[in-house]
Amino acid sequence: MKILYVTDIHGDHGKYWQVLEVAREHGVDAVVNGGDMLPKGGANLHRAQKEFFEDFLDGYFAQYEKAGIYHLGYLGNDDLRIFDASFEKACSQYPHAVNLAQKRFELGTFEFIGMNWVADYPFRLKDRCRKDQNEYQFQRQFGSGLLSTKDGFEELDNWFAYAAMLPTIEEELRLLPKPKNPRKAIYVIHMPPAGLGLDVCQSGEKVGSKAIYEFIQGTQSLLTLHGHIHESPACSGVWRAMVGKTVCVQPGQVGADSVSYVLIDLSSMNIERAVDSFVNRKFV
Ligand SMILES: [Zn+2]
Repeated sequence: MKILYVTDIHGDHGKYWQVLEVAREHGVDAVVNGGDMLPKGGANLHRAQKEFFEDFLDGYFAQYEKAGIYHLGYLGNDDLRIFDASFEKACSQYPHAVNLAQKRFELGTFEFIGMNWVADYPFRLKDRCRKDQNEYQFQRQFGSGLLSTKDGFEELDNWFAYAAMLPTIEEELRLLPKPKNPRKAIYVIHMPPAGLGLDVCQSGEKVGSKAIYEFIQGTQSLLTLHGHIHESPACSGVWRAMVGKTVCVQPGQVGADSVSYVLIDLSSMNIERAVDSFVNRKFV
């Protein structure tokens, strides 16, 4: 079975169409999208993300249905939580479109399990943020925490106190559906693990999740797929790593006119990363 994994394409139509094009060319069974699917927005984030559902996603999923290719994905930390229902609805229109958030999906002899909570960061939007583990050192914040609401954002008086009431990443991982056979399981976890060079920011800071690293160590699944830190492979030179028998992949996502992705043959575990330019490419 062959899959294409892409992540953090933030509503870029060119990247979306290029991914489908490559998926068709290589005859993949499924495209796996690791989150942060919606436009980043600018001045009116709510409107930009809402329009993505109204104008784009349904037609895009229809093409997967037509091609008989699965689209397994979920929203990420930059995708407002108020749109979770819209995403679920968009997926429910097509048998080949699957919402993988905190869910398990069997495809052939393989099973995919998704998780889109992230360890906290300095940015203000906290819709999907969690403490990593109980003893967690918060980073210095860029301002008060915000949660999305239908009419804008709710400002949190004390994000640290609020976060203390939520399950940690470690607990969220424990709550995930269990694979029947870890050696046939692929975890799609937006947040990268710590300690492997898959989590390196422009500043050189390493922000990966210790809880996720320990989970991978303990579970020993076939494969884990990550994203979130777009620049990490460019900064560290690392886009794949091993934790025991588990292969961990983070393809990154940089550049406006190109898309980074990996093609994976799950039977042979042959994995190739590509960065395709799509300047001047016309999509039909
Ligand atoms: Zn992210």
